[in-house]
Amino acid sequence: MAQATLTIDLNAIAANWRALDALSGQGTETGAVLKADAYGLGLDKVAPVLAAAGARSFFVALAEEGAALRQTLGPGPRIFVFSGHMAGDAPKLRDAELIPLLNDAAQLRRHKDALPLHPYGLQIDTGMNRLGFEPPDLVTGALPAPPTLLISHLACADTPDNPANAQQRGVFEDLPRIGCPRSLSATGGTMLGASFHYDLTRPGIGLFGGMPFAAARPVVRLSLPVIQTRSVAVGEFVGYGADWHAETPRRIATLSSGYADGLIRALGGKAMLWAADRPCPVVGRVSMDLLTADVTDLPEVPATLDIIGPHAGIDALAAAAGTIGYEILTSLGARYQRVYINP
Ligand SMILES: *Cc1c(COP(=O)(O)O)cnc(C)c1O
Repeated sequence: MAQATLTIDLNAIAANWRALDALSGQGTETGAVLKADAYGLGLDKVAPVLAAAGARSFFVALAEEGAALRQTLGPGPRIFVFSGHMAGDAPKLRDAELIPLLNDAAQLRRHKDALPLHPYGLQIDTGMNRLGFEPPDLVTGALPAPPTLLISHLACADTPDNPANAQQRGVFEDLPRIGCPRSLSATGGTMLGASFHYDLTRPGIGLFGGMPFAAARPVVRLSLPVIQTRSVAVGEFVGYGADWHAETPRRIATLSSGYADGLIRALGGKAMLWAADRPCPVVGRVSMDLLTADVTDLPEVPATLDIIGPHAGIDALAAAAGTIGYEILTSLGARYQRVYINP
């Protein structure tokens, strides 16, 4: 079989949620952010495991994602939508009982007109300039009823010393008190300590084993089948563009998976594959369905090599490609055999 295997440890996801939950006090609820199909790992598999672990508040980017999540979770848990109330969203928000986090006066007006009695939350921009009301535009007298939740988002929470963190928290502190629970922190903010926790935290990447939650349990393993192995003589090249030449006699393995599977082209010549604890450098360019690795030092070439696993997680692979673990996870393609380790 040439299909690569992506193993997703649902137990580790539940353990990471519990560990993040333990970082904040009794008065802080821990939510779960499951946008982009649970960071690419499968919303329908991940959500029930987190609900069973105790999560009661979920977050997605789009109303469509919220509707799918409601199908999976059934009634009960709260589902918040970061993009707020967009034109045409009303039936989905109503039928799936989603709570839009309204981002400006136009969304507030749309919500009041279409669903006057339906719960909503507010997102406030405290400095990131991406989503949310500018604080002066938040005229509390215009609110139809008290919001369910007031949120903002930190731009630099993965760098604890960045002064933007305290600055944004200060703006958040100074917002008019409208008597509803407040939420400021994703994974990074949760690591910054109690003064960033407020009533509800919103971790995403930490659940899936990514930085900045350094103590996370790894969640994914990606094993690529070796299709073919060959000897390459001194001076011969490997791959498109003849980018890489053998300087000594080499054994080269060709593995199944390439940039169409999310193993982006920037990994060429940079990433490592692993045969248990022995590293095998990726050589030459990554192509659409294949990549090539130097396996000269292996006494025996196994049937598969890992590109994500115990010796190199999503952040190590991301670093090789000059990106972040989030992008590696959400790019993992549709051609893998997905194997879930269940609780
Ligand atoms: C994606 C997102 C989160 C979760 O962020 P992580 O860094 O993955 O924990 C929380 N809040 C908002 C507004 C987001 O967009």
